[in-house]
Amino acid sequence: MKRSRLAKTIEVLIFAAAVAASACNVLHAQSATLDPYSANDRAPDARLKVDILVVVAHPDDETLASAYLAREINDEHKRVAMVYGTRGDAGNNDVGPEQALAMGQIREFEARQVGSSLGASSVWFLTGRDTVSQNVLNSLEHWGHGACLEQLVRIVRFTRPSVILTFLPDFTTGENHADHQAAGVLATEAFDLAGDRTVFPEQVSPAANPEKNTNLTEALRPWQPQKIYYFYNPTHDIFTGQGPQYSSQEISPSRHVSYAMLAAEAFALHRTQGGDAIRRAIDNHELEGSQSPIVRFLTDPVRLIFGKSLVPSGIADDVFTGVVPGGIPFQPPPRPAAAEPSNPALEIGDPWNYYRAFWLTHALDRLANVVPLEITVKVGGSLAIPLIIDNPLDRPITVGLSVQAPDGWEVKPPAPISVDPHTRYYLRVQAAAPATKLAGWQQFTISAQEGNQKIGSVPIRVELSTGWVAPQ
Ligand SMILES: [Zn+2]
Repeated sequence: MKRSRLAKTIEVLIFAAAVAASACNVLHAQSATLDPYSANDRAPDARLKVDILVVVAHPDDETLASAYLAREINDEHKRVAMVYGTRGDAGNNDVGPEQALAMGQIREFEARQVGSSLGASSVWFLTGRDTVSQNVLNSLEHWGHGACLEQLVRIVRFTRPSVILTFLPDFTTGENHADHQAAGVLATEAFDLAGDRTVFPEQVSPAANPEKNTNLTEALRPWQPQKIYYFYNPTHDIFTGQGPQYSSQEISPSRHVSYAMLAAEAFALHRTQGGDAIRRAIDNHELEGSQSPIVRFLTDPVRLIFGKSLVPSGIADDVFTGVVPGGIPFQPPPRPAAAEPSNPALEIGDPWNYYRAFWLTHALDRLANVVPLEITVKVGGSLAIPLIIDNPLDRPITVGLSVQAPDGWEVKPPAPISVDPHTRYYLRVQAAAPATKLAGWQQFTISAQEGNQKIGSVPIRVELSTGWVAPQ
């Protein structure tokens, strides 16, 4: 007799249900003696533990450190995870017509291929969106600062890195992408917060029903990273004396090619953003000795800036000097409040003003001496110098401003300003850049005085560029 398909299906389902029921009975018999809540005391998932967490903004940013990562992964047997703040949803697409969010998805796919090529253990993404600007505060706003920080603190807690490598949280000449700076700000905040059980406490609260799927808390453990280092791509050397450097030309003993070659093989997978050019350079044996900027990113030494270390380590020591393999207890940073002036003062405005307070709060005051106040401006473009006049006095003040500007720039001198008592007054000095490139630094100084009393001056140097420059 021919059985119907329906009858056969029902028979299979009854059998499956019987197996499931017997499995449940076994589990229930075991759990009768053990409170399932004790599942919270299992060790964290060992597959996710890494030595280095790399926090960058866009797929391809890891290139600044990938020769070093290839060294650590292949020959020092370190485990590395990478975090991207956005999926790289802006920019041009070298392969197909896809743009915006669709291109972001393709770049996520490429970044995961790159992670595999380098030998990274895992690759993660925050929910930031590409932001074309030089001002880190624009990126933090556009990314959703709080949501991205929550996501990154979670990743730090489950990947448990000893060391974080990220972009320098500062404003320099060159590409100076606000998203890059935002990655550095978030990584620095996560370094200081992931070990604090009062920060995103729902992440470190045990699960109420660990044997069921209705949990609303995450059962992670707080985690304190030990060292943080920064990298960047400015137009001049900011690295000498600031941290360790690693050759990219050295041959990997285990892979028998240079670390630059391993980095290039990985970069070639970023096909939407220049990967094919690197593929050709590899195939034509042009990697060594090429002066093209994209190749030099891969073949130059990887230079790091020491941020801070919670274990004994010199500035130029190896990244892993002093690292305690089992981890260290939470160490909250000292949080000295930025000093409020007791007399009227002139200060540089945001984003520079923010960074000065940020470095202090995160015990990174050494970063104040790495990059002077500087900015790149496009020839024929404009410069806005944001300023703050602080009046802590009980009376109003009238402040006169003078601007010392280099030849060839057009500057509108600001009129005298009346500032109310106990007020921070925001203003900016605007300057039109010359239409042709002038060599060297263009030095500006803005000075402020009340009557005959000088209350402060702000020097800032400018580099003119004929290339593309992100909006200020
Ligand atoms: Zn980038």
